[in-house]
Amino acid sequence: MISQDILVVGGGLAGLAAALSSDPQLKVAVISKVHPLRSHSVAAQGGINAALGNTPDGRDDSWESHAFDTIKGSDYLADQDVAELMCEKAITAIYELEHLGVPFSRFPGGVIAQRPFGGAGFPRTCYAADRTGLVILHTLFEQSIKKQVRFYNEWLVTRLVVRDGKCLGVVVYDLTKGEIMPVKARSVIFATGGYGRVYQRTTNAYINHGSGIGIAYRGGVPLKDMEFVQFHPTSLYGKNILITEGARGEGGYLVNNKGERFMADYAPSAMELAPRDIVARAIQTEIDKGNGFEGQCLHLDLRHLGEAKIKKRLPGIREICIDFAGLDPVETPIPIQPAQHYSMGGIDVDKKCASCVEGFYAAGECACMSIHGANRLGGNSLLDTVVFGRIAGEEASNYVKECEETGDSEKILLDEALKVKRRVEEWMNKDSGEKVHKLLIRLKAIMSDKVGIFREKRDLTEALERIRALREDYKRVNISGSCLRYSQEIVNIFEFESMLDLTEVITLGALNREETRGSHFRLDFRKRNDRDWLKHTLVTWKEGEPQVSYKGVTINKYKPVERKY
Ligand SMILES: Cc1cc2nc3c(=O)[nH]c(=O)nc-3n(C[C@H](O)[C@H](O)[C@H](O)COP(=O)(O)OP(=O)(O)OC[C@H]3O[C@@H](n4cnc5c(N)ncnc54)[C@H](O)[C@@H]3O)c2cc1C
Repeated sequence: MISQDILVVGGGLAGLAAALSSDPQLKVAVISKVHPLRSHSVAAQGGINAALGNTPDGRDDSWESHAFDTIKGSDYLADQDVAELMCEKAITAIYELEHLGVPFSRFPGGVIAQRPFGGAGFPRTCYAADRTGLVILHTLFEQSIKKQVRFYNEWLVTRLVVRDGKCLGVVVYDLTKGEIMPVKARSVIFATGGYGRVYQRTTNAYINHGSGIGIAYRGGVPLKDMEFVQFHPTSLYGKNILITEGARGEGGYLVNNKGERFMADYAPSAMELAPRDIVARAIQTEIDKGNGFEGQCLHLDLRHLGEAKIKKRLPGIREICIDFAGLDPVETPIPIQPAQHYSMGGIDVDKKCASCVEGFYAAGECACMSIHGANRLGGNSLLDTVVFGRIAGEEASNYVKECEETGDSEKILLDEALKVKRRVEEWMNKDSGEKVHKLLIRLKAIMSDKVGIFREKRDLTEALERIRALREDYKRVNISGSCLRYSQEIVNIFEFESMLDLTEVITLGALNREETRGSHFRLDFRKRNDRDWLKHTLVTWKEGEPQVSYKGVTINKYKPVERKY
């Protein structure tokens, strides 16, 4: 049986940061369901935040202002100690990336360039043109190869094995061989990314099914604040490929069909650079009022930035527009619409990335250590992955050096793998049944129609009923083929179970939370209600049911006040 000291699940930025910071004396491996360089991190465009204070006008930035912006942006649901920790570590994190070889864009004179981003009181987003995720992921991958990190690619983790509150390893589906088998590990770190593909319109990669979050939930770890789903204001109309916030950071305007810069009505001082929740709602409101183009989209106008700046700072965006919309933003405004983008909620972990299960850690987008609260600021997620990925690797290493081995863990792991094998056999042995891709289409429609940017009780109740009905249909799924190698159908069936869990938890949290906060907008409760709802939602899988509880928010320096931009 394969056995590791530390098993990192996920080859995106959080996973690679965790692997690189793990103690080199330990046996460390990364499992990823796709090649690491195909992880969604590679698509990150606009940049990564840190208070380097590299503005040409000589103003000074501080990590404290970065922390304040993050907390205000979160609509005061962030745990303030954790937000402070991330922002304080941000500065060293960027210089470390630079020294590892990340080719950041530069200002004249050579310092790392920084651009304005939404909800930030200072231009503090470091970038490499509009391909920031790509360059950081490639750099960390090269470093991992150099450090001889072991990779198991095209392996899907299907189950977390936990006994008596302690993590023993995982069960995987090795796509390359078509085998189901256990992997023993003294510590497991999940860095499995987001779940955007539960929505019809999303900027996320096709692989972003969120199964890691669902697997942790079934393993007994609570999910936190899942009702907070970020919708990005600007995705390319019809295709939903992201058009980075950096386009507005560089000075792009949002315009409705009357030619108005309508953000003046919604966020008069921050305008296009208000936080994402506010801009996404403003765009959707304009479309709903009939001020959209084709009743579906608005325009992001970059023409006034000029050809040279667009080509230098936003080359990827220009390419996307030419290839996927047949237009050049140098000459034509970009048609945009909001789309699901990021998951603020996730696996409940503390600021050491530790969960309630001994030896089990999580970092990156799948985790929720409560930095982003009810709304994440652009540029803070890449930062979160590198800062907390690293912490996860260090903490897991400390744990492994102290923990004692569970004697009969191999037997327990083999039993669990057998159970997973039996499930696959069951799916294969049915001659007829439901097809998972059809169930997925239905699930996406429910989430998009009923659990989107604007929410209300009637829709959420109906969504919950329909998700639960889908659960019944899921019991009847079967597999068409008989080959176990590279079966995308098997992958989808495994992951769909997690998607059902996640969507149920998102919807339940949204239904219960009778207030509006950050990305969670209730048409029937339009105000934030700190008296009753300044708390985190926790949902735990117990006896086959989701159980809801709440826990307090850590407030240090910043008293919650109304958010104005
Ligand atoms: C288009 C786009 C642009 C963005 N731009 C920015 C930006 O400019 N700045 C910013 O701060 N943020 C940005 N974000 C957000 C940010 O990129 C992501 O939140 C972050 O990269 C997530 O990294 P991660 O390591 O947590 O997960 P990912 O990079 O998504 O990696 C997840 C990994 O987990 C593996 N995996 C998942 N499930 C399983 C399983 N069951 N078994 C085995 N392996 C599994 C996958 O193979 C993958 O390797 C952007 C997001 C998108 C979608």
